[in-house]
Amino acid sequence: MRIVNVTTAVVAYHGQATLVRIDTDEGLSGFGEANPDAGAGAVVGMIESLTPLLIGEDPRNVERCWEKLRRSKVFAGAQSGVFVIALSGIELALWDLAGKAAGQPVYRMLGGKFRDRIRLYADCGDGDDPAGSIAGCVDRAQRMVAEGFTAIKFDIDDLRHPAKFDAFNHTINAAELRSMVERVAAVREAIGPDVDLAIDLHARYDVPSACRISWELEPFRLMWLEEPLPAENVDALVRVREQTRTPICAGENLYLRWGFRELLERGAVDVIEPDVPKCGGLAEAKKIANLAELHYIPFAPHLVSTPLGTMATSHQCGAIPNFLVQEWHALEEREVWDSYVHAPDGSGSIVKDGYITLPDTPGIGVELDMDGVRAHAVAGYGVFE
Ligand SMILES: [Mg+2]
Repeated sequence: MRIVNVTTAVVAYHGQATLVRIDTDEGLSGFGEANPDAGAGAVVGMIESLTPLLIGEDPRNVERCWEKLRRSKVFAGAQSGVFVIALSGIELALWDLAGKAAGQPVYRMLGGKFRDRIRLYADCGDGDDPAGSIAGCVDRAQRMVAEGFTAIKFDIDDLRHPAKFDAFNHTINAAELRSMVERVAAVREAIGPDVDLAIDLHARYDVPSACRISWELEPFRLMWLEEPLPAENVDALVRVREQTRTPICAGENLYLRWGFRELLERGAVDVIEPDVPKCGGLAEAKKIANLAELHYIPFAPHLVSTPLGTMATSHQCGAIPNFLVQEWHALEEREVWDSYVHAPDGSGSIVKDGYITLPDTPGIGVELDMDGVRAHAVAGYGVFE
């Protein structure tokens, strides 16, 4: 089996999501997805530049293809960023192909499953957009819990806060801190003590601010406090983690297993959150999860992908022991999000009662709904052409 063609489509979700299609000389095609954060133009261009290296390769040699692409760009930024995001999208499509060729679901290709269904947490954003009011947060939290989610997450970093003195410094002031605490307190009271609650700070604060926030949030027994600091300085994150009882989570802005090595070895986190269609793909995420397991650290992937990238991530989460919970970020775009695939059980969505059930069909196990893809295709890009 040889790769004969690699094409992309770009759809509207969390900005612009790049879908990847790999065709073979035996008529089988595999589909993958790259994380949308870098924008589609850069990712599509990178995939096009890598395509000649894939033509003629056997797609079932997933890790050989991956390593061939990575090594081709080690002098051009293959350690992180757009390159690894594009590589991740290709890698997901290779696993889909490898699974289809073997007649096996991807989780089995990754070593088999520890669990039949994958627990999700609902990312609730900053609540009731655009106001971000406390009442909006409470309403959204209660709706997600009523729907069956056992874990939720809110964003409490507020760049639009009227008390903010400066758009660029990383220091929180008293009024901003009070707003944060009020919001978390209201959500915790609304959902009760038994629902897991995570809080995201989006890498926006400095060390003294991160310390103050982590202390103030200790009474609310968070599942984790996410990215209190920018991602580049592991020592600074160690300082924050060591002075608080609030669990610290980070990793969505790190790439490849080497990007997580120091974070884990230095004890900078209580939870890691790699983004699978961004950090290098399914096999790479499994290696990162195994590295975390060495340090008894749980794996809770960040995720902002369509149901295709979401289901791919679920296969990987099924195949590791230290899985905690997987992000689900489509609350505000749910109808469009669901429209991108045919759910394996014929229902309207792959998400039910706060869980995703792993399908036993070959490959990733969801088929793109081309009507949905075309309806929300981003102008200026071809649809697998
Ligand atoms: Mg985050």
